Amino acid sequence: MKDRIPLIAGNWKMNKTNSEAVGLVKKLKVIVKNIKANQREIVVCPAFTALSDVAKELGKEKNTNISLGAQNLHFEDSGAFTGEVSAQMLKEIGCKYVIIGHSERRQLCGEINAGVNKKIFAALKHGLIPIVCVGETLAEREKNKTKDVIKKQISESISNVNVDKIVIAYEPVWAIGTGKTATPEQAQEVHALIRSLIKSNSARILYGGSVKPDNIKELMVQKDIDGALVGGASLDAESFAKIVEC
Ligand code: PEP
Repeated sequence: MKDRIPLIAGNWKMNKTNSEAVGLVKKLKVIVKNIKANQREIVVCPAFTALSDVAKELGKEKNTNISLGAQNLHFEDSGAFTGEVSAQMLKEIGCKYVIIGHSERRQLCGEINAGVNKKIFAALKHGLIPIVCVGETLAEREKNKTKDVIKKQISESISNVNVDKIVIAYEPVWAIGTGKTATPEQAQEVHALIRSLIKSNSARILYGGSVKPDNIKELMVQKDIDGALVGGASLDAESFAKIVEC
């Protein structure tokens, strides 16, 4: 029996306009309203433009069981960083979580472990909980480099970080948005490695990569899988709710 509360986070990426995002969360909160906070933690991560209105929508409930997360942040508190958003700004509008180092940002925006580390410190400084993403590419897996890649990403990204204050998401790059999920055994193997590297029994390690209502159960029964970071399937209230309810 795991005593870590499972966390299911939806990464909406660059999808949903403000009104669509509010519509989605309106639907979602009705479907998941009976889920208790000690059973599941539910997080939605809309685009920056929708965070404020989604926060207001969630705030209409006295004790909402859905938390808000952002998809990125800048490591500085303020300054001449055109187009960027700081931890302080996210915290003020009601974010609890922030995704850091997603593979799409690593691949498309040149994010590296050292920058991920700075962002983690910025988030923690302002009371946000980072969801730190790591994962190997297909080429790295095929060359049997998965363990080395994960070890390097973990040691550099979370250097000097109190791991009990963060969430880690293992997301094999080859499984993101491709429909190919890691087998539960493949995922558990890497989760166990991460747990041994971070030396924590309380930190939650999520799996991400084509998680759907029909594959979540077999992932969640694995010893070191504490939830999921869900992309595509989080864009529909019913399918996300099924994953949450698994
Ligand atoms: C993600 O964006 O983190 C992700 C896992 O996407 P998908 O579920 O669509 O593979």
